[in-house]
Amino acid sequence: MSVASRAPAHIRSLSPYQPGKPVSELARETGIPEANIVKLASNENPFGMSPKAREAAAAALEEGARYPDGNAYALKAALAKKYGVDISQLVIGNGSNDVLEIATQTFLSPGDATVFAQYSFAVYPLATLARGGRCIQTPAKHYGHDLDAMAAAIDDATRIVFIANPNNPTGTFLSGGEIEAFLARVPQDVLVVLDEAYTEFLPTEKRYDAIAWVARFPNLLVSRTLCKAYGLAGLRLGYAVAHPDVAGLMNRVRQPFNASVVAQAAAVAALEDGDFVRKVAENNRQGMAQLTAAFIELGLEWIPSFGNFVTVRVGDGAQVNRALLDQGVIVRPIAGYGLPEWLRVSIGLPAENVRFIAALRRALT
Ligand SMILES: *Cc1c(COP(=O)(O)O)cnc(C)c1O
Repeated sequence: MSVASRAPAHIRSLSPYQPGKPVSELARETGIPEANIVKLASNENPFGMSPKAREAAAAALEEGARYPDGNAYALKAALAKKYGVDISQLVIGNGSNDVLEIATQTFLSPGDATVFAQYSFAVYPLATLARGGRCIQTPAKHYGHDLDAMAAAIDDATRIVFIANPNNPTGTFLSGGEIEAFLARVPQDVLVVLDEAYTEFLPTEKRYDAIAWVARFPNLLVSRTLCKAYGLAGLRLGYAVAHPDVAGLMNRVRQPFNASVVAQAAAVAALEDGDFVRKVAENNRQGMAQLTAAFIELGLEWIPSFGNFVTVRVGDGAQVNRALLDQGVIVRPIAGYGLPEWLRVSIGLPAENVRFIAALRRALT
């Protein structure tokens, strides 16, 4: 008997999360210089982080030998002020993936179930299965969430429902009204995790205020991140807003120092730089138009997206992906999601989008 064979069956059967290929790895494999590689694979911010966040991060390095503030006071105070919530309603995560993990650790016992949609974020099944939970996956509707099917799928063992809005990897969107109506139907002892990783990219007319609903729905947890629109993916910083009882339990479960000194400082500064986020969202809007115009010209089908990425049907996803990699362009194959004909492409800077479009054109001929 080996140690590995003694690990719980639900751990041994986990498949690893498949991240976007790092630039350095493609450079090693192909000999293409890193500077000539375009990575549009992980929905990262093509502008990097706000200069104000970078400055704060650099200054915080001076404190790198000290443990961070485990209660993240300055960051929580900034978030509480921004959203008009109490500090006791906040949970800070090492990225919002951490928030999702902490939620399952806190509320899921082995044998309990989570409900989520087909083609929604890969971390939901991973976090569920890692706790010995059971996944209830409902069929997608037009590549997005079917909220009626999800409400109907909730059984006595269900403790958490995950909703990604906009969804990753398909970019689909549910209106605020649809989500609010769903919340009114969910039993009060089932936690609804509303994962809003891309909410900053929504056009004004699509916006809704889920954080304001937490007062009415004590079983709602809103998850947000500074890793996408705010550009802190490498520093890792996410957060949850929930009822104080929900947040309180999660704060007992999370690691006491899960958000680093540098990430906390950068986050406080990033939250103050609204101009940067507006610039990022505007670039995204233009880049999305640039890519979808090219898809029309190439006769390709795509899923209308509300995130900072778009999923396009290319035929043989693995083959086209290989042809893109050979040209130094990294996108994300999503066969693992059950979409082998599709590739997910993050919106880049205009010149990066041009590189991708040219490479795609070649890959398809
Ligand atoms: C990217 C993403 C996240 C969070 O990523 P972090 O880097 O951990 O904040 C969460 N949910 C969805 C749907 C995502 O696409």
